[in-house]
Amino acid sequence: MQHDTGISSRADHSIDLKGISKTFGRLTALHPVDLSVRKGEFLTLLGPSGSGKTTLLNLIAGAIAPTTGAILLDGRDITRMPPRDRGIGMVFQNYALMPHMSVFENVAYPLRARRQPTKMIRAKVQDALERVGLRGFEDRKPRQLSGGQQQRVGIARCIVYSPAIIMMDEPLGALDKNLRDHMQGEIKRLHETLGTTIIYVTHDQEEALNMSDRVCLMNGGQIAQLGTPDDLYFQPRNRFVAEFVGESNLISGRVSGNGRMTIGGNQSVAIPGGRRPEGSELLVMVRPENVRIGGVGEVAVEGRDALNGEITTVSFIGGMTRVTVSTENGLNFVARMVSGRAGTRPEPGARVRLFWSSSDLVVLDD
Ligand code: ATP
Repeated sequence: MQHDTGISSRADHSIDLKGISKTFGRLTALHPVDLSVRKGEFLTLLGPSGSGKTTLLNLIAGAIAPTTGAILLDGRDITRMPPRDRGIGMVFQNYALMPHMSVFENVAYPLRARRQPTKMIRAKVQDALERVGLRGFEDRKPRQLSGGQQQRVGIARCIVYSPAIIMMDEPLGALDKNLRDHMQGEIKRLHETLGTTIIYVTHDQEEALNMSDRVCLMNGGQIAQLGTPDDLYFQPRNRFVAEFVGESNLISGRVSGNGRMTIGGNQSVAIPGGRRPEGSELLVMVRPENVRIGGVGEVAVEGRDALNGEITTVSFIGGMTRVTVSTENGLNFVARMVSGRAGTRPEPGARVRLFWSSSDLVVLDD
C-alpha cells in the first residue's frame, strides 16, 4: 500500500523542534530543545558519546516518542505521525544492507515496499546508483563490495525514493581516514545536486566543520552552541565548545582595568573589546595557530602580548608541527606552525617567548 503523507515532492523541507525532550526512566537523554533545520540545509549534530545526538535523530525519525514538545515538518505537526509516513530517509553507520539481496534489490527495496511499478523502480534504482557511482554493480551481493561501496549502496537506498529529509547517523564511522575524506566530498556533492535537507550525526569535529552549513553541538542532552562552522571555531561560546571544536589555549584571570587582565605570576595581558568590571573573573581563549614562538630577547610590538617559557614537547604531524610550552607563570600553551624540515624545528627544552595578538583572544562565557 502506498502511503499518502501529504508531504510535497519538493526536495527541500524544514524541520522545527519545539521544546522536544526525552527521558528514559530517571535519565534525561535530551532536555527540552528548540531547533529549526532550514530548507535545503546541511545541519550536523556533533557531540561526545551520550550527548543526545542519536536520541534527537530517533525523535525526528519517529523511532521513539518525545516526552515533551512538538516536531513540525514544513510547519505541519508530525509528532504523532508513524515513522514510515514522515518521508524521512536514514543512512546508518553499519549500512544495514540485506546480505542475501543484490545491490539492485537492496536499493529497490523502499520502492517495492511502496508498491511502485516495475518500470519506474528500474529507472529510479539506476538513477540512484548512477548518483553514487555504482552503475555496473547491480548484481553484486553486499559482501562482494568494499566498506565505502556498501555505504554508497546505503545512500542510494535512501535517496531512491526522494525522502523529504535525509538523516545520516555516523555514516562514515566504519571507514578508514582516506576513504572517509573522499566520502565526505561525495556526500557534500550529493547534497548540492539533490538540494535535500540533510541532518547528519558525527562525533568527529573536523567532519562536522568540513561538511555542514550549520553545526549543532550537543553536550549532556542540551545544545551547547548552534552556528556555522566559522561561528563555532572562531566564536565559541564557552569552555566546552572551545575545547571540543579544535584545540584551544584557555587563560583565566581577573580584569585589572585599562583593558587588561591579570593572569598567574603577576603578569597582565590585553583583553579584547568592551569595558568589564574591574576584579571580575574572565576566561579567554587563543587558538594554537595564533600563538607564535619567538626568541627570549624578542620584544612584543604594540597590540601583542608575550610570555616566557620552555618547550616541553614537539610533535611533527606532517604539514604542521605542534609545540607545547610551559610558561614561567605556570600556564601550559600549545602552538601550531607550518612544519620546517628536521633540524629547523624547535627542540624540547629550548627557552622561548610566546606571542599572540590581543585581537585573536576570544572571551568565553564560562
Ligand atoms: P553516541 O555518540 O555514543 O551514539 P549519542 O550522543 O548519540 O551518543 P544518545 O544515544 O542519544 O547519545 O544517548 C543519550 C543518553 O541517553 C545516554 O546517556 C544513553 O545511555 C541514554 N539512552 C539512549 N537510549 C536509551 C534507552 N533506550 N534507554 C535508556 N537510556 C537510553
